[in-house]
Amino acid sequence: MFLTQEELTHINAFRRELHRHPEVSGEEAETARRVQEALLLAKPDRIVSNLGGHGVAAVYEGAIPGPTVMIRAELDGLPIEELSDLAYRSTVSGKGHLCGHDGHMSILMALATALGQKRPTKGRVVLLFQPAEENGAGAAAVLADPEFATLKPDMALSLHNFPGIPLGHVLLRDGPVNCASRGMKIVLTGKTSHASCPEDGIAPTFAVARLLAALTDLGSHAPMGADFSLVTVTHARLGEPAFGISPGRAEIWATLRTLTDERMADLVQRAETLAGTEARAAGLQIEVSYEDIFRQCCNSPEAVDALRRALDDEGISHQSDSPLLPMKGSEDFGLFRTVAPSAMFFLGSGETHPQLHNPDYDFPEALIPIGARVFLRAITNILG
Ligand SMILES: [Zn+2]
Ligand SMILES: [Zn+2]
Repeated sequence: MFLTQEELTHINAFRRELHRHPEVSGEEAETARRVQEALLLAKPDRIVSNLGGHGVAAVYEGAIPGPTVMIRAELDGLPIEELSDLAYRSTVSGKGHLCGHDGHMSILMALATALGQKRPTKGRVVLLFQPAEENGAGAAAVLADPEFATLKPDMALSLHNFPGIPLGHVLLRDGPVNCASRGMKIVLTGKTSHASCPEDGIAPTFAVARLLAALTDLGSHAPMGADFSLVTVTHARLGEPAFGISPGRAEIWATLRTLTDERMADLVQRAETLAGTEARAAGLQIEVSYEDIFRQCCNSPEAVDALRRALDDEGISHQSDSPLLPMKGSEDFGLFRTVAPSAMFFLGSGETHPQLHNPDYDFPEALIPIGARVFLRAITNILG
């Protein structure tokens, strides 16, 4: 390992500090401040802040020109109450670092520590601490920030810890690794009336009842692959909690999920047609909007090769043929592929480790040196 025990202890303490103070997507001001404070000790050549929101980037320059390698971690925690007896458990009620982004940031801090002691020979390394991954807004905001042009990578790499496989074992494959998804919000507006005279109003009751079933049925029920699609109704609301009113308004929230962006366009169209037809038949106004939009996340072969070589050089076990990939969850890192070859690998958190977003999840600190070794080796292989 390239870090001393003292440096590792310091980085673990940094992770626990982040863990105590989780902030949700778009609100990561304090996390960004902590990251910048810790980065100063690792002496980057440049720190860019407020990137696409609260994003932070640390730049390490080589002595001679060459390509830019970007390594990305996420700043945000989740709006979930942490259930644990850990000494460093979340101090913020209803919020927790339950996806391991505190650990991912610590891996980048380990890299910063190493790069602060030894710059790359050529080119440069950008360590990106990206905001708002959990709602799919952050990568797009970072890419849209004019300052990003000064950081534009020639290759972008990332990892996500992965419960359910052995600790430290890696899954890595070319092509799709995460699904496209988007939250669809349908608002149906009719007219309230006295509950004794529903015929005087326009109630969305039957339209909602049919849509809850029909939207759920819209998924392909196909196994994971190009034809996979899934619709999950996540929330519904009809009228007000009162016995005297026949409802005049309803809301349905559903998450649409597909493997490919093409299939998503098709699913969106079919869901909108379905909802529009029901609304028209009942004489209801309809408004459809979308949130939490994730594009498919697809690994580029050249970036996968760079990671595979680094894993081999470091003697870390890895496989490409897992039934767990591509996964049904979404990840906004795929968007960086619009500017450079990109790849993400999945680092085992342990076979029986609590799953991501579970209330009792905690990032395994043993993964910090492993993740950092893989990235540092990939950087050294590319930039010397
Ligand atoms: Zn997550
Ligand atoms: Zn995550």
